[in-house]
Amino acid sequence: MHDALLDLVLGSSCVGCGRPGRLVCPACWGTLPAGGHAAWPTPCPPGLALPFAGGEYDGLLKVLVNAHKEHGQLALARPLGWVLAHVVRDLVHQQGPRAGWLLAPVPSRRAVVRRRGHDPMLRVSRRAASLLRRWGIDVRVARLLVARAVTADQAGLHADARAANLAGAMRCRAGAGRQVRDAGLAVIVVDDVLTTGSTAREAQRALEASGARVLGVATVAATRKQVPVRSSPHPPSREPDYSGGSLPFSRPGD
Ligand SMILES: [Zn+2]
Repeated sequence: MHDALLDLVLGSSCVGCGRPGRLVCPACWGTLPAGGHAAWPTPCPPGLALPFAGGEYDGLLKVLVNAHKEHGQLALARPLGWVLAHVVRDLVHQQGPRAGWLLAPVPSRRAVVRRRGHDPMLRVSRRAASLLRRWGIDVRVARLLVARAVTADQAGLHADARAANLAGAMRCRAGAGRQVRDAGLAVIVVDDVLTTGSTAREAQRALEASGARVLGVATVAATRKQVPVRSSPHPPSREPDYSGGSLPFSRPGD
């Protein structure tokens, strides 16, 4: 209701097709993935917990993630949380019943949260958890992970460089992992996009080092499988920025 009122006042338009009205019109919402599937990165970080994603990081999903994260379109936590909830639901179904589930959002660095003015993954995770509880699945969000020291921006780095950049980049709040395990709860690492899997793997490492049981990784989207690069003369270029919205796009797989 609140979103609808804001839309009315601000005269917003759909970030997908540009149609005036809701930030995501019913037609575009209908194209969002309502389920998760295994999304193993290639190459895969050894020991990575089962990764599930909603769809390819492209088209509408990419626009939503960027507009929410970088441009502060906070109302987009609703469709993003909706997608993540479906991914978590399917992952939970795959892993079988547990006493309860905790979503552990990958933490943003403090400086980044300050610059953006919000913590996007925390917001999306809370949306997802509240939907899942409505569906009868006992899921809570727990801010178990803390971003440690300074790491370089991951964009543009390839798998090995990412893993090296991230080693020890996160820690679990003191004693939290053990408490979680003693309560019989299983943890799912949640993030917006799965790329090489090294961020999720580092989150998993930090949780497991603290004693928690990690049973999966759930993300809104995953990049297309990484193609091994053979001594290219050029470093990999950064992803083009589609965050401006209202670009023509196709659904993943089209
Ligand atoms: Zn639309």
